[in-house]
Amino acid sequence: PADVETLGRSTWTLLHSIAATYPRTPTQSQQNDLTSFIRLFSKFYPCWVCAEDFQEYIEKEKIKAGSRDEFGNWLCEAHNEVNRKLGKPTFDCSRWQERWKTGWKD
Ligand code: FAD
Repeated sequence: PADVETLGRSTWTLLHSIAATYPRTPTQSQQNDLTSFIRLFSKFYPCWVCAEDFQEYIEKEKIKAGSRDEFGNWLCEAHNEVNRKLGKPTFDCSRWQERWKTGWKD
């Protein structure tokens, strides 16, 4: 449905933008906060099937918040998992900063 898609696009924009501005060398408390944020986000994401699968993914693939690169790549892989599930092309994660920080047009 259109709502799930609009919500998804907006949410990925927010999450990848957070990754792009996350510190290169976060403090322990920033790492804990980001990890909590992602865990809590997964419980309240208002597409319940999406949220359930994302929670399972987080259990399998531990959230990596040790640095901007680490989190950005983790998130890119998580997004690719959803892309695969939906039959969408996967994204080259070596280019996530180019897409979400430096910026290019879709
Ligand atoms: P989107 O997937 O929304 O991506 C937006 C833009 O991000 C793309 O145009 C591309 O430039 C860029 N991009 C694509 N892949 C990556 C990547 N791996 N890393 C970085 N950038 C990338 N929809 C469902 O139908 N079922 C689900 O179970 C489901 N689960 C979701 C779980 C979460 C946590 C989120 C945030 C969304 C979920 N969605 C789900 C929505 C779905 O992922 C898409 O957002 C939606 O289908 C719209 O897709 P889109 O083609 O516009 O591009």
